[in-house]
Amino acid sequence: MEVVLASRNAGKLTEMQTLLAPLSWTLRLLSDYTDQAAVESASSFVENALIKARHAAQVSGLPAIADDSGLEVAALNGAPGVYSARYAGHNASDADNNAKLLDALEGLPEAQRTARFVCVLSFMRHAADPTPVIAEGCWRGRILDAARGTQGFGYDPLFFVPEHHCSSAELAPALKNRCSHRALAAATLLARLQSGT
Ligand code: IMP
Repeated sequence: MEVVLASRNAGKLTEMQTLLAPLSWTLRLLSDYTDQAAVESASSFVENALIKARHAAQVSGLPAIADDSGLEVAALNGAPGVYSARYAGHNASDADNNAKLLDALEGLPEAQRTARFVCVLSFMRHAADPTPVIAEGCWRGRILDAARGTQGFGYDPLFFVPEHHCSSAELAPALKNRCSHRALAAATLLARLQSGT
């Protein structure tokens, strides 16, 4: 089956193709169908994942899969949340976002720096699908008081992973891809699609 992935990122397509390999889908990029991105206007990951999947199904005429992800920090009431990519402003770099996060948590003791990465995946059979399949993955850790490591992207240098005693930017990429919020969401989505629920 051909399925459109609501993304223009070829790296994300390869990652998703691997994670969902048992489904034998052929994934297409949204950029094969349109230059317009969906407007991620909602305040929850699940709503944004649905907006993106519906838009991709609409413009392609194919079933669609979309993800929305970000970082939630407990001491900041879940911020940066759906604004993770633009926490420090619309054209903010990863370094800008990380600097803003360190400032926001300045002086906070380790025990109060808990955080989690969240990923929601949604699958729609068509744009008017009334029962999209939704799966969430969550990866718990805490925010360091200085950046560590050079792998990954986004908030990885500030995200301490207790089970591996290092930041997610210090994890080998293959290991991160097995334990991350995205991997967990994909495993749950795969199980739901395979069981028909
Ligand atoms: P999106 O799902 O690609 O829109 O990602 C939203 C934002 O959340 C990214 O720009 C990052 O700032 C952050 N984020 C999501 N997943 C990760 C991750 O695995 N590591 C670090 N940052 C992440």
